[in-house]
Amino acid sequence: MGTYAVIGLGRFGASVARTLTALGHEVLGVDTSPKKVQALAEMLAHVVIADAEDEETLRSLGMGNFDGVVVAIGQDLEANILVTVMLSEMGIKNITAKAQTELHGQVLEKVGASKIVYPEEDMGVKVAKSISSETILDF
Ligand code: ATP
Repeated sequence: MGTYAVIGLGRFGASVARTLTALGHEVLGVDTSPKKVQALAEMLAHVVIADAEDEETLRSLGMGNFDGVVVAIGQDLEANILVTVMLSEMGIKNITAKAQTELHGQVLEKVGASKIVYPEEDMGVKVAKSISSETILDF
């Protein structure tokens, strides 16, 4: 099984980290908030309270050794982009980053993210498909 780092343990990041763990992967969760980190301390293989905007921190956490890194920082656009740039410059190939808008996603792609996710939009598509398939089954 793989090893993954999830940076930002908000609703989205926490869900990604928990699900990867449930699928049998070894997950490191990183967040500046002690509360967010504590909430997942029992569940994830490793957790750390740290500011991912600090390049030394990213290096000392050994980000380059993971099979993939997920940038799940939301509101703070600058931190989200900066962390993605730093991970990419460290040579990490498998970077999944959460985008707020299409333009934000394009920027993330340019600075080295290999996969962009739009949680609200992607969930909207899933829900619509699920409703649609229920409708078809109902006939
Ligand atoms: P969600 O919808 O997933 O709950 P959100 O879009 O509201 O998240 P935020 O709450 O802004 O996004 O960010 C998600 C998490 O990222 C938060 O728990 C926040 O503490 C964490 N975070 C923000 N900046 C950093 C950083 N520089 N280093 C580590 N974690 C960070």
